[in-house]
Amino acid sequence: LSSLNGLDGLLVSNWENVRYLTGFTGSNGAALFLRTGDAVVATDGRYLIQVAAEAPGLEVIESRQPLDSLLQYAIDRGAGRLAVEAQHLSLAAFRRLQQASGTNCELVETTGIVEGLRAVKDEGEVQALRQACAITDAAFAAVVLKLRPGVTERAVADQLYAAMRAAGAEAAAFDSIVGFGPNSAIPHHQPTARPLQPGDLVKTDFGARYAGYHADMTRTVVVGPAADWQRDIHTAVANVQNRGVAAAKPGAAPVELDAMAREGIVEAGHRVFHGLGHGVGLQIHEAPLLVPTSTAEALEPGMVITIEPGIYLEGQGGVRIEDTLLIGESGAERLTQTPRELIEI
Ligand code: ZN
Ligand code: ZN
Repeated sequence: LSSLNGLDGLLVSNWENVRYLTGFTGSNGAALFLRTGDAVVATDGRYLIQVAAEAPGLEVIESRQPLDSLLQYAIDRGAGRLAVEAQHLSLAAFRRLQQASGTNCELVETTGIVEGLRAVKDEGEVQALRQACAITDAAFAAVVLKLRPGVTERAVADQLYAAMRAAGAEAAAFDSIVGFGPNSAIPHHQPTARPLQPGDLVKTDFGARYAGYHADMTRTVVVGPAADWQRDIHTAVANVQNRGVAAAKPGAAPVELDAMAREGIVEAGHRVFHGLGHGVGLQIHEAPLLVPTSTAEALEPGMVITIEPGIYLEGQGGVRIEDTLLIGESGAERLTQTPRELIEI
């Protein structure tokens, strides 16, 4: 809370932020941190047993309207300027809280305070991310390398889910993207009943969630033998990805990494459809973002990010290669370790 210049406290409404700061994983709850050192979490009766176990020692208020109760708690303790999370509070909730605080307490809109802390992972978080990535690698080996023509995109998505669960995942990190043939050219394709055919590129973008932390990996294989155009775009994407990983060091600016990858894709004669990557942690997409509009200044040791360039030829097929990386003192370590060469199945 040392960053809260001129503020008497922070009202945390985003649930990942509540979890990060308190350990409480319930889906209804909010937390309040006051300059005085008071820390309190509010949740409803369904979560009282859980919150006592997950956030021992923290003061708990039972409430069906956690934010309102915590605001009152802050006002009762003389808070005159209270930070709220502008990105996570609905307009209706903000207006309701403003009404309730009246002239007693000014609500100050802030963005990214807790997200900034979350961007750099501690050892326990890195352990969870390593495990999520290891499960993801195991699922790829169990499913994608054993694909045969005739299987559908949906069946492969189901197989990936089952393989991740069997390997210890608590859930999938997100709905798996599985695209065959022309569907692989759709960056965020949703799996369909299309069967796998000879000559198809197969793009799989998926990951496991373990202890709340997400993995994110994309690999593209081909039902061989690969055509020249398939090899060409795969090589181009692999080169851009390797250069991006090599440049992902402490001090590197996310906007510059993104710009470098864009240049590489354009130089290969293709257009750019999306940013280079994103932070990964309690959310699948979090700070720092590797996009042209990123507000993150520089990578730091302990950040976990993805590097995921892609080239997509509409109507033909596309290739994306994505790894989840840990930024170390001198460079990036790939936490997802599935081979990246073009595999012919
Ligand atoms: Zn992904
Ligand atoms: Zn991603």
